[in-house]
Amino acid sequence: MKKITLQKGREASVLRQHPWIFSGAIKHIEDGTQNGDLVTVVAQDGSFLAVGHYQDSSLAVKVLSLSLEVIDSKWYASRISAAIDLRASLGFPNEQTNAYRLIHGEGDGVPGLIIDVYAGTAVIQPHSTGIERQLDEIVAALKSLGFESMVHKPVDQRPAQVLVGSVNDVIEVKEHGYRLVVDVLKGQKTGFFLDQRDNRLLLEAYARGKKVLNAFSYSGGFSIAAANKGAKKVVSLDASVAALALAEKNAELNQIGAIHSTVKADAVQYLQQLEEDFDVIVLDPPAFAKHKSARHAAVQAYKRINAAAFKHLPAGGILFTFSCSQVIDTELFRNTVASAAIDSGTSVQILQQLQQPSDHPVHLCHPEGRYLKGLIVRKLGAV
Ligand code: SAH
Repeated sequence: MKKITLQKGREASVLRQHPWIFSGAIKHIEDGTQNGDLVTVVAQDGSFLAVGHYQDSSLAVKVLSLSLEVIDSKWYASRISAAIDLRASLGFPNEQTNAYRLIHGEGDGVPGLIIDVYAGTAVIQPHSTGIERQLDEIVAALKSLGFESMVHKPVDQRPAQVLVGSVNDVIEVKEHGYRLVVDVLKGQKTGFFLDQRDNRLLLEAYARGKKVLNAFSYSGGFSIAAANKGAKKVVSLDASVAALALAEKNAELNQIGAIHSTVKADAVQYLQQLEEDFDVIVLDPPAFAKHKSARHAAVQAYKRINAAAFKHLPAGGILFTFSCSQVIDTELFRNTVASAAIDSGTSVQILQQLQQPSDHPVHLCHPEGRYLKGLIVRKLGAV
């Protein structure tokens, strides 16, 4: 393995178990080190610190282990096996829910790797060159643990590829007993947004007899939950025709009938031009800020869309509002929603603070892993 030497004193964050090393902390990269190589990281005095994947970017090393060990298929199998045990202890999979996150990157000790499981099919999504280059080892590890069908779903625009077994492009899964289709080959992310599972269930309590707008609906997970618990009208809104086709399929599978409709629109424009009010609005936009430099613009975008939503809620109306931007933390998000309330002249109470579910664990020393933030808020009225 090639060697990466840190600047004096910069070993502190590695010793505090933070799995990311930024390029500014590096003193020397051994000649010939390639993008995605497994490397050993040493302190300035040459003492061993960690093994990780080198990436030719500002986030230069993702730490895989604080011991000098070989990162091969057996290593992946041991981490994945521990993750399977954790999921089993959390109750995944079960009769009602057979779609879950098996590996959540740093939170499961494998920085750069996401694996979601849909009715037994493992969808592997590498988020670093190092993980992508070790795809064969990861596949071998999953095979040794009994997985028989696997898909590689790149994060970029490259097409998904079935690696093992025969996989239908659309897989039917169950979540809380609801039947849902997941497009593992052409869908967004790994095909479904598992991170909203618990929050969909919470929406049920607010839905009975209500008009619900599910903005940024993707395949309609929130819509199905609301409609099944007695909402009188549910609108799934998304900019993607493919997403809405999945939402319609899901509505059909769960027999929610004529109370459900879909709208293809830009959510911001739609909310600004909308003439009716909704009792309950869900806002779950894509990550507006993918990088720190985009944070300011993202805050403005979250503010605009939340302010527009507040204007379409009656007094007593409920907003489920989310941000999945990693660079916007819980406090900044709450403050942003507060300024949206102020801008729209609305008085608002927080009923609950939301986050990702337990199959998306966060390492205590890597708070960045907690990417999904949400609030259930209630509009008291105009100020
Ligand atoms: N709430 C969903 C996940 C939402 S992901 C669930 O529970 O599954 C974000 C969605 O926003 C994607 O489906 C994407 O197509 C959609 N989207 C992105 N930009 C949009 C825009 N400007 N207006 C409406 N939808 C948009």
